[in-house]
Amino acid sequence: MSAGSGGLSRGGPGGQVGGAAGTAPRTVFGHLEPYAGDPILSLNAAFQADPRPDKVNLSIGIYFDDAGRIPVLDCVRRAEAQMLEESGPKPYLPIEGSAAMRKAVQGLLFGAGHEAVASGRVATLQTVGSSGGLRVGADFIRRWLPGAQVWISDPSWDNHRAMFEGAGLAVHAYPYYDAATGGVRLDAMRDTLAGLPAGSIVLLHACCHNPTGVDLSRAQWEALVPLLRERGLIPYLDLAYQGYGDGIEEDAFALRLLAAAGLTFFVANSFSKSMSVYGERAGALSVVCADRAEAELVLGQLKATVRRNYSSPSIHAAGIVARVLADPVLRASWEADVAAMRSRIQAMRRALHGVLAAKRPGRDFRYFLTQRGMFSYTGLAAAQVDRLREEFGVYLVRSGRICVAGLNSGNVERTAAAIAAVVA
Ligand code: PLP
Repeated sequence: MSAGSGGLSRGGPGGQVGGAAGTAPRTVFGHLEPYAGDPILSLNAAFQADPRPDKVNLSIGIYFDDAGRIPVLDCVRRAEAQMLEESGPKPYLPIEGSAAMRKAVQGLLFGAGHEAVASGRVATLQTVGSSGGLRVGADFIRRWLPGAQVWISDPSWDNHRAMFEGAGLAVHAYPYYDAATGGVRLDAMRDTLAGLPAGSIVLLHACCHNPTGVDLSRAQWEALVPLLRERGLIPYLDLAYQGYGDGIEEDAFALRLLAAAGLTFFVANSFSKSMSVYGERAGALSVVCADRAEAELVLGQLKATVRRNYSSPSIHAAGIVARVLADPVLRASWEADVAAMRSRIQAMRRALHGVLAAKRPGRDFRYFLTQRGMFSYTGLAAAQVDRLREEFGVYLVRSGRICVAGLNSGNVERTAAAIAAVVA
């Protein structure tokens, strides 16, 4: 459409749109900008197309087992077998999702009998992955807290900025990762947060920070709470890797701390990684409110947000999550699997560190041991990342982040040797 024409006038063959006199006719979509693609998903596609048999994929945040496969957990198979056996109908779920799943999620996040849950002040809805939850929360903020600006960590998962900006919110970054020490720039982070207007949204990774693997310690979380409260800031927790840090319960520390402190906050949680059900799109969004009445209002408006978007979430995802969390046998099996996935990643961290420390004794690689969860921030420069991919078939994103869960006993030594070669 030509600028200012105010409407489409469908023109000649091929559905061209007539422009003002003298301008070339254009097709309806000819003016679109090409989508550059998501950097991580594009890299993953490039990996798939690479014919080298010994290639290594450390790009995408997916847990692979020691044979390099995405596992299907036994508890998930059994939950699905039960569902198949029952062969029930497949109605629409309510807008807010399955009641059984929402209840199970609240128990998982806050622990059995938590005051916030018992008093009804947590509004939870099942969402399309935690991505869906993050975006529903962002749309809700845009509508009901319209002046609020969003602050994400520097760096953060790239999609955080895209999602909140996509919802029409202004997004800024607070200092977080300290490249010099491999820790958190806590003082700079606190100084920035202390200067924000009340009502600002502060996005925090509840555990297993993506991309750095550098988490706040318990003491640092505790030090943050009074600041968040005094400044009237609204935390928005992203819990995408529950169980991959220190344990399922342990990784919920931050949200339980904020709830106990009486803060109002959002938490989007995912089962993609913890149950290895990426494509099922299993997640939830919870908002911890002042009281039950407020939680009901919030749930109502979250439902309105969902209704005008995707209407309702997946019944299959709900069936898996609700069964695995509520059935004691499936739950025990899941907890054992999460522990095994966590300890396999830790073993890969130790193996990687061992080879690198031996090959490059002058360099400090201890960060591989202290960072938590799937990711490590290696500090490799983009040119080194390119060399790893081109010469050695080792794929990682250009920020230098590696997904440690892509390592296994068959490729870790080779990968460590490749990293040692490019840092030489
Ligand atoms: N948040 C973070 C930090 C992530 O790394 C991811 C996925 O990689 C997500 C959210 C989204 O997860 P989901 O698959 O539940 O949408």
